[in-house]
Amino acid sequence: MTSTANGHIDLHAAELAILEGPVPIIDANEEQRLRRSDPRLREALVNLECEGNGCTLANPCSPCIDRRRYISLLLHREKHGKPGHPSDDTKFPAPVVCSELLATGPEDWLWHGLLAVGGITLLTALWKLGKSTLLAYLLRAMERGDVLCGRVVQPARALIITEESAGRWARRRDDLGLGDHLHRSAIPRQAIR
Ligand SMILES: [Zn+2]
Repeated sequence: MTSTANGHIDLHAAELAILEGPVPIIDANEEQRLRRSDPRLREALVNLECEGNGCTLANPCSPCIDRRRYISLLLHREKHGKPGHPSDDTKFPAPVVCSELLATGPEDWLWHGLLAVGGITLLTALWKLGKSTLLAYLLRAMERGDVLCGRVVQPARALIITEESAGRWARRRDDLGLGDHLHRSAIPRQAIR
């Protein structure tokens, strides 16, 4: 593991050391904890199960080597973050004095005046007032570009991440004629908890 002048760990070098250095020894409890934490990870680790015959701690088989390196990498990332995705992403950036702020071009609208490209938009209303219905019509308008509520909608693709079931979106698809410019994905259960 290398450190830079300001004391930060060089994440790329540290990860390379895990992937190319001596085969790490993995704490069984840590491995169990990781296996429990994420179904996709569990799946990945199943493909790296021990081949048995002659595999020892000192002389591991090749899936064991890969598994130990992979787990070691995950533990490292838990602690230090991913290279290029520093774990201090959650900190506020340094403030910039007003005169040094850089102006950008005019707003680029996905739905003119309402939904800006690159923005975060919250659509809020009391229940049963038609938020989902409005959204479904907006998503349909994105297929070829259209006018919705008198405002231009640009052609776009969309990913719907929702707690509503796939079946419910299938019915909406059939009712409104939603196209394959849309994909639906579920919110992982762990994220809802
Ligand atoms: Zn093995």
